[in-house]
Amino acid sequence: MDDTGEEEDEEEMEGGSELNAYSQEVITIHGEVDLVLEQLPEWVTAKPAKKNLLTVMDEAYIQPEPLGVVLIIGAWNYPFVLTMQPLIGAIAAGNAVIIKPSELSENTANILAKLLPQYLDQDLYVVAKGGIEETTELLKQRFDHILYTGSTAVGKIVMAAAAKHLTPVTLELGGKSPCYIDRDCDLDVACRRIAWGKYMNCGQTCIAPDYILCEPSLQSQIVQKIKETVKEFYGENIKESPDYERIINLRHFKRLLSLLEGQKIAFGGETDEATRYIAPTILTDVDPETKVMQEEIFGPILPIVPVKNADEAIKFINDREKPLAFYVFSHNNKAVYY
Ligand code: NAD
Repeated sequence: MDDTGEEEDEEEMEGGSELNAYSQEVITIHGEVDLVLEQLPEWVTAKPAKKNLLTVMDEAYIQPEPLGVVLIIGAWNYPFVLTMQPLIGAIAAGNAVIIKPSELSENTANILAKLLPQYLDQDLYVVAKGGIEETTELLKQRFDHILYTGSTAVGKIVMAAAAKHLTPVTLELGGKSPCYIDRDCDLDVACRRIAWGKYMNCGQTCIAPDYILCEPSLQSQIVQKIKETVKEFYGENIKESPDYERIINLRHFKRLLSLLEGQKIAFGGETDEATRYIAPTILTDVDPETKVMQEEIFGPILPIVPVKNADEAIKFINDREKPLAFYVFSHNNKAVYY
């Protein structure tokens, strides 16, 4: 922060929660550093390889080596951990790295560009700020590995650019992660966990529960229990809660509003464009053909799609793109492991 306090104001405008930022981003990084420090001696040690007819006279071993120069392209929703975590691995593996944080989370990009050169060798680790234009230019270069986190659509662009140089990629993409709530389950626990995972970071989490599948008669109980949990988590006045975040920008805010059109809002639905606030929201009796069920929601809107039973839920999920995560709440192990 400078003397005028300008940076602090910008941080506030970004609409993050201090507690969530610490628990989701900083603690994870400490864990990653500890893991690498503990495991690295073993990871870098050559391991004997099984000999065959061609190598019978040789000393055969597998020796891990650095790849060379790695490009890390980060996303905005957890902007610190999504660039730092791959960076720790890339450094541990002995690579030079170009880090391209998301331009949408500008404050974190600025902090990384300011802090990293203070602690890391500036010839080996470079922060490249910028958006689509700069990333497109970067992707024309030849890298030895690209680690990308973001949407599936851009993932395809990254993979196509990498293919020109036969560069291997690691893509951390998105998806619509379903929850199945069985009639035979602890509904209090299910609703509490779903409310936490869905509304943390205002739903802008890659593995956030995207939608719920359950028998029609469970819907009203689920709405009631999530409503109570939300009150417990964020208080009566959610807008004033320091733990409830905001939507990253106006484009995403408007995209989310368009998902509410024509839906039955059973809870929430309040919005405020000036602060990009969208209340924790639940939609009931959602038609799978409507827009909210066609794309990853990535916001605090939770549709409930009624299904007859577990078999129909399984078919519903299998008929669609592979989700990133799947949450099942049931006491019935047959349903869980099916
Ligand atoms: P984003 O808009 O910040 O884009 C990600 C990166 O791609 C940015 O650095 C951006 O500059 C770059 N980019 C955007 N358009 C580009 C283009 N046309 N050409 C080249 N580069 C481009 O983030 P996003 O894509 O909105 O991120 C949200 C998505 O990320 C969601 O789908 C979410 O599920 C997914 N995600 C996945 C994980 C995971 O670990 N699997 C983690 C977080 C987020």
